[in-house]
Amino acid sequence: MICGLGLPEEILQGVAAGIDLFDSTYIYSLTLGGFALTFSLDKNGNQDHFHLSQIGSDLTKINLRATAYRKDMSPILGNCSCYTCQNHTKVYINHLFNVHEMLAQILVEIHNTHHYLKFFHAIREAIRDGRFERFRQTFIESRRLH
Ligand SMILES: [Zn+2]
Repeated sequence: MICGLGLPEEILQGVAAGIDLFDSTYIYSLTLGGFALTFSLDKNGNQDHFHLSQIGSDLTKINLRATAYRKDMSPILGNCSCYTCQNHTKVYINHLFNVHEMLAQILVEIHNTHHYLKFFHAIREAIRDGRFERFRQTFIESRRLH
């Protein structure tokens, strides 16, 4: 078990080093900043397409406080099965942040926790199928590209 490692790359390096449990505030901190995870969980490491015009956003996350989402009627991630993505849009969450409604953080944390658990699920699948090292390298390479 290790405390303090939370970034996806850190998780992958930790797993490669034999760590089984991670105690991290990454999701909480990310959510506090208004960020939602959007990195691809595709087995081949393919990146989906996102609007990157807003400050602080990259291929791994978007900032839902950004004005870019004032009219965005789509969910955080179109293919996400979490409660937030199934029931709410970016424009609604952006509005909640703007009026300092605490529901904004609750909804974003639901998505981020769901997304990160799927990331850990993908890691376990890769280990089980004997392709963890390829998964790790592809994932890190795809994030390094931007
Ligand atoms: Zn979601």
